Amino acid sequence: MFRMFDLSPGCAFLVGGGEMGALIRAHDWSRAPFGAPHDWPQPLQTLVSVMLGAKQPMFIAWGAEHHMLYNDAYAEILGGKHPGALGAPLLEVWSEIRRDLLPLVEQTYAGRPVHMEDITLITERHGYREEAHFAFSYTPVRNENGEVSGFFCPCIETTRQVLAERRLTEDTARQRRLFECAPGFITILKGPEHVFEFANLAYSRLVGERDLLGKTVREVFPELAGDNFFERLDQVYRTGQRYIAHHKPIRLQTNPASPPRDHFLDFIYEPVTTGAGQVTGIFIEGYDVTETHLAQEAQRASELKFRTLAEAMPNQVWTAAANGQLDWFNDRVYAYSAAAEGELDGESWSQLVHPDDRPSVAQRWAAAVATGSDYETEFRLRRADGSYRWHLVRAVAILAEDGQVQRWIGTNTDIHDQKMAAQNLRELNDSLEMRVEARTAERDRVWRNSRDLLAIVDSDGLFRAVNPAWTEILGYRPDEMKGRSFLEFVWPEDVEPTRRELEAAVNRCDLSDFENRYRHQDGTPRWISWHTSVESELVYAYGRHISAEKEQAEALQHTEELLRQAQKMEALGQLTGGIAHDFNNLLAGIIGSLELIQTRLNQGRTEPIERYTRNAMSSAQRAAALTHRLLAFARRQPLAPKSLDANRLLGGMRDLLRGTIGPLHRLDLIAADALWPILCDPNQLESAILNLALNARDAMPEGGSLQVQTANARCGAENGVSSLPAGDYVTITVRDSGTGMPAETLERACEPFFTTKSQGQGTGLGLSMVYGFAQQSGGHLELRSQAGEGTIATVYLPRHSGALAEEPQDTLTEVPRAQGDETVLLVEDDPIIRNLITEVLQGLGYHTLAASDGPSGLHILQTHPCIDLLVTDIGLPGLDGRQLAEYGLALHLKLKVLFITGYAKDATSASGFMKPGMEMMTKPFAVAALANKIRGMMAVSAALEDPKNS
Ligand code: ADP
Ligand code: MG
Repeated sequence: MFRMFDLSPGCAFLVGGGEMGALIRAHDWSRAPFGAPHDWPQPLQTLVSVMLGAKQPMFIAWGAEHHMLYNDAYAEILGGKHPGALGAPLLEVWSEIRRDLLPLVEQTYAGRPVHMEDITLITERHGYREEAHFAFSYTPVRNENGEVSGFFCPCIETTRQVLAERRLTEDTARQRRLFECAPGFITILKGPEHVFEFANLAYSRLVGERDLLGKTVREVFPELAGDNFFERLDQVYRTGQRYIAHHKPIRLQTNPASPPRDHFLDFIYEPVTTGAGQVTGIFIEGYDVTETHLAQEAQRASELKFRTLAEAMPNQVWTAAANGQLDWFNDRVYAYSAAAEGELDGESWSQLVHPDDRPSVAQRWAAAVATGSDYETEFRLRRADGSYRWHLVRAVAILAEDGQVQRWIGTNTDIHDQKMAAQNLRELNDSLEMRVEARTAERDRVWRNSRDLLAIVDSDGLFRAVNPAWTEILGYRPDEMKGRSFLEFVWPEDVEPTRRELEAAVNRCDLSDFENRYRHQDGTPRWISWHTSVESELVYAYGRHISAEKEQAEALQHTEELLRQAQKMEALGQLTGGIAHDFNNLLAGIIGSLELIQTRLNQGRTEPIERYTRNAMSSAQRAAALTHRLLAFARRQPLAPKSLDANRLLGGMRDLLRGTIGPLHRLDLIAADALWPILCDPNQLESAILNLALNARDAMPEGGSLQVQTANARCGAENGVSSLPAGDYVTITVRDSGTGMPAETLERACEPFFTTKSQGQGTGLGLSMVYGFAQQSGGHLELRSQAGEGTIATVYLPRHSGALAEEPQDTLTEVPRAQGDETVLLVEDDPIIRNLITEVLQGLGYHTLAASDGPSGLHILQTHPCIDLLVTDIGLPGLDGRQLAEYGLALHLKLKVLFITGYAKDATSASGFMKPGMEMMTKPFAVAALANKIRGMMAVSAALEDPKNS
């Protein structure tokens, strides 16, 4: 039965209590072990009254079965279990969590209260299931006996807090997950000791694998003590002020195996505060900027280096931003423009550029900036003094890694002086070119108009170029000659000497005064005298046509020859006069002696014959020697140098000299001992000495002394004759005591045709001949004289190292005789000479055959096979000596021939037909000379016949 407001006495505690109050009052408690409400023990009544009066959800569990009593608020918690739960046992009502509850219930019944912070229940309070959280406590309630009869449980719903807390936790976790992957390092420190609560991956990477969480920063980073990190944290914690660091250096040992590394960090210490502003920790976030820092450092360093370099450079240096805006200038720019330090910018600098150059400079610079290509130009820059100077301006773009222009570095180099110099040089060059052109034209003119041969010959001897003079002189056109060898044009006989001379000239590199003949187109020769020079493999040849000169020289030589001849004849004429007397004396001596011999023979007296014969012989021999010399003197002979002994030659001239100077003068011949041999033409030397003697005689009309002396002379630098090369010479000195010569005469004495003598007396050719001969023989003529002091003429002739030429000794007194059976055929038309020679030959022991003309001589040759020697005159009637000799040689292979002739002409032409085994003698000759000659010829033939005899 349910009775509303039926409040029996003792049930006043059940007043109110909302729905639950009503339900409790209406409940049938008869089945409850603790009876009806008015029977309930006092504690229960009191508790129920409290419970029903409370807004807070509460329930009471009472009795051994823990029957539940609860209020409206708790009814909401029970959800669907209400209202059936009223008076029902607790463990049945919450059967689903009975296992959890039981120990708590038992503990409470054992007298120990239970407190639960959080219990999670699924409720359907609002028509749907939802999670609810509660905090509650079980407070045991004792009876008067002190036994626990039940317990009282007030509940506090914590669902909102729990959910809020959970959300917070989830938020934090999510945040930390985010932190975990953040690129910067993040760590969260808690409390005043800065205990690590969180650290992300980046942080671990930065500091190395360290055991952080739960430890203080001081424990984790002992190496940072003293680096002010901890103190900063303390400060932030204390003050609540954040701290921000840039590029803070830090040395961290990330790995015990490797040395500590320096890092640079950007970071923030952000205090973590409660809502009330209480600091509870520090949030740290930051970045490792080591690489950036180092890069910046490097950049700074390189910048510094660049600046230092740029300042040190002699040039002006500037930099510009990528957009071309000039932003830095070195001191040179400031010094040059006298701008105040740091005052210049792109705008003010561009004002320094010469106004005329400004537009093109701006345009070029803009183009370079647009394309990033190198910039180079020249323009004038205004100097502090207002003058403009030319500068070479160069700029290069500094590219970043991505190829973009980062900045520009430019230099201005003062090229004013060079530019001016170059300009001057150009002007100079232009004028030089003109000059060269003029010179070239001039040279071309010379080339074209030269009357001499000009040619360029290459190293192969081929004509590269010839001038028009070639056509004129040699008849060839230049194009006919070009490319041909010059040797093709040389006169055939001159090719070899030319080639030899050129080879020799290679060493000297040039050739001068070389003469050879070229063939004219008409086949006749032309004499050319050459000068050449060699330059870069080319021979530049200059040739002078000298045929005319040559002809003139030849003509002159011919004339001179004639003159010399005339002079000889003149000398001969003088000689003849001089010696006629002597010769007559000699003849007188011979004739007289012969007459006396005849007279004595008629008288039958023979004893004085011997003496007369000797006298006659003596006179005849002297006469023969005299004529011989005269003939030799008159003979026309080319220079035939022979090695000879000047003493002997002089000795042979004694009579001639004697006869030449006449009896008024004293003659001394002084021969040096061990005189060196000389090499010269003996006839010429005799002429020379004779000429000097004649001059001496002329200078001593009243008589005087003539001395001829030989000597060895060693010519050196000090004691020589200036015109002679140093070396050994033989001197022949002719000294007279005559009039001497005044200086003017002495100076000109050697000139041809210079004479002080009257017409018919002198030719003026004597000394010139002596001089010419001495020069030609490699020697010299020296004249020393003063008026009234006599004259000394010295002929120098070079010493000869070769052996002396053999000269037959025609003064031997021991005449060699025939040896054995030797037959001589003598052919001579003059009967006296023929008989004379026959007698001489027979006297010497030769078998002798004689003929008076050519044909009879031939006949004897044909009929007498045993003839060894033919002695024949050249000029013979019928058949001359030469022809006879030819026949004789044809008949007798080993025949020797000795020509004897009295004609100079024959002697001169003899060299044309003389053969081995032939000899020549000029008449007159001494018997001894004849005997010697024949003996010599026989000995040669004997040696040839029988080698054992030699
Ligand atoms: P030439 O005897 O025909 O006059 P030379 O050539 O021999 O010609 O001599 C030239 C000149 O030199 C002579 O005329 C003479 O004046 C002078 N002369 C030469 N030799 C002597 C000398 N021994 N003493 C003086 N004068 C001399
Ligand atoms: Mg003379």
